[in-house]
Amino acid sequence: MLRETKSTCCYCGVGCGVIIEHDDDKIVGVRGDPDHPANFGKLCSKGSTLHLTAQSEIQHQVRALYPELRRERATPRHTASWDESIDFIADCLHQCIAEHGPDSVAFYVSGQMLTEDYYVFNKFAKGLIGTNNIDSNSRLCMSSAVAAYKQSLGADAPPCSYEDIDQADCILITGSNTAYAHPILYRRLEAARANNPDLKVIVVDPRRTETAQDADLHLAIQPGTDVALMHGLLHICLWEGWIQQDFIGQHTEGFDALKQIVRNYTPAKVAQLCGIREQDLLQAARWFATAKASLSLYCQGLNQSRSGTAKNSALINLHLATGQIGRAGAGPFSLTGQPNAMGGREVGGMANLLSGHRDLSNAEDRAEVARLWNIDDVPAQAGSTAVDLFEGLHKGRIKIVWIVCTNPAQSMPHQVRIRQALERAELVIVQEAYRTTATCDYADVLLPATTWGEKSGTVTNSERRISRVRAAIEGPGETRADWQIACSVAQALAARMQKPRIHFDYQSVEEIWNEHRASTYQRDLDITGLSYQLLNARGPQQWPFPEGAQTGQARLYTDFKFATSNGKARFIAMEYQTASDKTNARFPFVLNTGRLRDQWHGMSRTGTVASLFSHEPEPCAYLAPSDMQTRMLNEGDYICLRNERGSVVLAARASQQVQSGQIFVPMHWGQESVSGKQTAAHRAANKDKGDSLESVNLGISLGINLGINTLCSDAKDPISHQPELKYAHVRIEKLELP
Ligand code: SF4
Repeated sequence: MLRETKSTCCYCGVGCGVIIEHDDDKIVGVRGDPDHPANFGKLCSKGSTLHLTAQSEIQHQVRALYPELRRERATPRHTASWDESIDFIADCLHQCIAEHGPDSVAFYVSGQMLTEDYYVFNKFAKGLIGTNNIDSNSRLCMSSAVAAYKQSLGADAPPCSYEDIDQADCILITGSNTAYAHPILYRRLEAARANNPDLKVIVVDPRRTETAQDADLHLAIQPGTDVALMHGLLHICLWEGWIQQDFIGQHTEGFDALKQIVRNYTPAKVAQLCGIREQDLLQAARWFATAKASLSLYCQGLNQSRSGTAKNSALINLHLATGQIGRAGAGPFSLTGQPNAMGGREVGGMANLLSGHRDLSNAEDRAEVARLWNIDDVPAQAGSTAVDLFEGLHKGRIKIVWIVCTNPAQSMPHQVRIRQALERAELVIVQEAYRTTATCDYADVLLPATTWGEKSGTVTNSERRISRVRAAIEGPGETRADWQIACSVAQALAARMQKPRIHFDYQSVEEIWNEHRASTYQRDLDITGLSYQLLNARGPQQWPFPEGAQTGQARLYTDFKFATSNGKARFIAMEYQTASDKTNARFPFVLNTGRLRDQWHGMSRTGTVASLFSHEPEPCAYLAPSDMQTRMLNEGDYICLRNERGSVVLAARASQQVQSGQIFVPMHWGQESVSGKQTAAHRAANKDKGDSLESVNLGISLGINLGINTLCSDAKDPISHQPELKYAHVRIEKLELP
C-alpha cells in the first residue's frame, strides 16, 4: 500500500514542496506539492526525478552504508562499527585539543544540511570544543550577499518574497541564469510577464544565457565590471533627476560620499569599461528608476568575486537611491543557491556568526549563547573561513578536519592546494551519504549519513520561508542522521573533556528545533512561534514569526525602518575594482563557470539519474565561434585549459552565448565523474552516442584532470571572505592527438 509524505526538494534555494510516494522501504515517486507557496505543485527536471536518486540500481553502488576507518594513513579503510568509529574520533579530537588547543580542529559543513544538523555541529565546535573554526560551503555561495545586506540594511535578511515577482514592473536579473539555476522561480517570472505586458526584464550577464535571451534588454558586460555598471546607472539617475531625494533624506545616510564617487562614472566611461552601448545603459536606468516597482534578482555572478560585497552593495545603493525597496514588487532579492544556506546562518553555523543572528564580536551576545548552552564562554576570536581553513590545514595550524555533506576536493578553488591540504591533515573525517565524492578519497574516517527521503528537520528558502523536511523511509545499511552522528561523538568527547553540563542528549530532531527557536527570542529572525506542530498544521512559514503571530512576514522594511542601530539604511561608497587575475599575453582568456539546467553541484545525486544527462551529456569548454576559428579549433577538438594553478582537458564547443575572449565551463564535472556512478548513468543515457565520456577519460589518462575549479583563484573578498570562483585567466592549448 503506497503512502504519501510531504517534504521539500533538496536541490536549490527555491525550496519547492514535494510529495514523496513510497511504501515501507522504497520511494517510488515524487510530485510537486500543490499547497506549497514556493512552487504550487510545479517541479523542475531535477526535482521531478528525485525519486530516481533514491531507487536507482546505481544508488546501491554509490552510497556510504557502513562506517569505515583507518588508523594508519598508509593502510586502506576497513569497515568498522559505530562504537569503534565514535571512540576513535573522540580519542583523536581529545588528544589533538589537549596537545595543540581547540583551534587545531576545524569543521567544514554544508548548505545542504538541515537546520537542526547545523545547530548541533555549531554547538559542538563553539560550545564543546571551544573553537570558531566551523565554516560552510555557503561561504562559496551567499556570504557576499549576507555581508552587503548587513552593511547596508543592518541584518542578514532578504527583504522580499517570491510574490514580489508577480507585482514588479521592472525586474533586473544580474549574476544569475535564473532559468537554469532557479527554474521554478523563473516560471513564475514567465507567468508574471504573461500577466503584465508592461513588465520589463533587464538581464546583466557576460553570457547570452537562456535567461538573457528572453530579456527585454541584455547588458552583456565584461566579466567583473558589475560595480562600474551599477555606479553608471546611479550616475544617470542623478543626472536625470530619477532619485528619491525625500526617501534618501529621511531613511538613509552616506549618500553624499557615494555621490562623490559616482559622479565620475559617466555613461561614456561605463559603456567603455563594461563593453556595452550607452543607450542601453540609459534604457536600463530609465526602466529601473521610473517603474512603479523594481525588483532585482541576483546570485553567484555577484557573490563569487573578490569584490562580491561591493557588487551587492552597489546594487542595494541603486535600490535605496531610487526608493525601490520596502514596497510590493520592489527590493534587492538575493536568490539562495543551496537549499539551506539561510538555515545554516540562522543557527550561526559559520566562522564569524553565532546562533540566532548574534554577533560573535559582541560580548553580550557571546555571554547569552554561553548561558543558553550551559558553558562558561564562547571564544571571541572569529574562526577560519573556508579558504583560510584549508590553508590552515595545509600549513599544519589545523590538524583535524571534519567535513560534512560537501565535497571541497571538487568545489573549492585552487584544488591542487586543497588536495595537498587534505593529504597533510593528521585526520580527515568525512560524513557523507555518497562514498563516490573526490573528498571521500581523503577520508581516514567515513561516516555514512542518511539523505533526502530518509531524514527529518527543517530548511529555509530564499524568501525566508521555513519548510519541514520529512523522512519517508529509513536510510540503508547503518546510515544515521547527521545530527545523531554529531551528538554521539559530542557526548563521547564531552565525557573525555569532563564537560558534562553541555547538552547533546537530544531524543528527537524536534527537541533540537525547540532549543534553536527558543534562542531566537526578540532577535530579528524571531521564530519562537514556529513549532513543528504549527508547521505541520499550517505549512511552511516566513520569518520573523514570534510567539503568538498568526502569519509570517512577507516583506521587510515596509515602514522604512531598517535594522541598523539608528534605523537608517546606509549607502556604501566604493570604487570599482578589477578581478584578482589579469588577462595578458600568457593567459588571454577569462574563464567563467556556472550551472547546467539538469545537474546539481558535483553530481553526487543527479549523476545517478541517466535521463539528466540527455540535456548536456558531457563537460565541454564553450568558446565564441570567432575564437574557435582564430585558434583553428573544430567542434569536439580537445583543448587543455591552463593557468598557474593547474590544467583541465575538455572538448571545445562553439557557443553563440559566449563573447570573444571568454570561456564558459559547467561546474559539475570533476575527477570522480569517471569513478563509477556518473559513468554508469552516463553510458546508459548515451549508449547510442559512443564516446561521450572520452574527454574526461582523456584528462584522467593524461593525469591532469580535476574539476574546473582547479583553475579558479582563491583570492577572496575582504569582507565576506567569498572566493573569486567566477573569474580566472587561462590559456588554451590544442591537444594534437595521434
Ligand atoms: Fe528543486 Fe529548485 Fe527545481 Fe524547485 S526549482 S524542484 S527546489 S531544484
